[in-house]
Amino acid sequence: MSLQAAKISEKTPITRLAPSPTGALHLGNARTFLINWCLARAAGWRVVLRIEDLDTPRVKPGVVEATIETLRWLGLDWDEGPHFQTTDLGPYRRAMRTLADAGRVYPCTLSRNEILASASAPNEGDHEIRYDASLRPADRPGRFDDPEANWRLAVYDGRVRFEDAYRGRVELDIAQSVGDFVVWTKRACPSYQLAVVVDDARQGITEVVRGDDLLDSAGRQMLLYSALNLGEPPRYTHLPLVRGTDGRRLAKRHGDTRIDHYRAAGVPAARLVALLARWCGLEAAGAGGAGDGVRAADLIGRISLDTIPRADITFRPEDDAWLRLGAGR
Ligand code: GLU
Repeated sequence: MSLQAAKISEKTPITRLAPSPTGALHLGNARTFLINWCLARAAGWRVVLRIEDLDTPRVKPGVVEATIETLRWLGLDWDEGPHFQTTDLGPYRRAMRTLADAGRVYPCTLSRNEILASASAPNEGDHEIRYDASLRPADRPGRFDDPEANWRLAVYDGRVRFEDAYRGRVELDIAQSVGDFVVWTKRACPSYQLAVVVDDARQGITEVVRGDDLLDSAGRQMLLYSALNLGEPPRYTHLPLVRGTDGRRLAKRHGDTRIDHYRAAGVPAARLVALLARWCGLEAAGAGGAGDGVRAADLIGRISLDTIPRADITFRPEDDAWLRLGAGR
């Protein structure tokens, strides 16, 4: 962390908007960003924009600019950034050296099938399969000497407990869920888990607000905070996701729910934000409602963790029809 970031974090909470430039910023992501931004602006947190361009193998030209432009169109702004991850891999390499010096990481050449076959009770996680401690080599290099290999963190005690600002008490056991997880990939770049921790620490992030599909990741990230001696991890707020009528998280199979798609169809930002506001517990009609159109800035102080429905939100065909009805108005 730079000295400047350290100074700011002493006084002002700092949050980040951290889109992955996949070109698919959809209604679900937009809702989380809107909530994060409204909480920040109501409470006076500083907002950092971080483009997580390591999170996707190939970033197509123009997609980064389009992602930033979409956030602006929604009415969001930030005090710092955009910061990019691919600009300088030095901080992530340094973190790897620290972990290797402490004997906490090791290169791993096992294939996915080998891991599955040898793990006692394989658990298919979201992206990763469980890597049992029995597969961990006894000798660890003590040096980060091969950036073209997959490296894993040795997870000794994977139990993590914390108070999530939205969900309350959370208890995880990372050794049981994913085991020794990947911190560096053979693409010669850090894994999402390592990159996020290094960035959150160096950017002085104290508030992480995101979808609860990343709840298990919070556990891994807290283990890394501790392995890297980075001090207190941020406060986490994990929000329920937007889902399709089939109960699955919003994705391509539910039709084109990209913000850019509605924008191109002529749906005004205010109408789109009104739908998102309804999904944050502000009803369309009546006092405090979002009506047909509302600006993100008008929601500051109105969207709070108390207004957000406890259950997952369902994106219904009626919602899509309602958005389109406003096209060209
Ligand atoms: N870039 C991630 C995403 O768009 C967010 C990661 C995070 O908030 O930690 O899903």
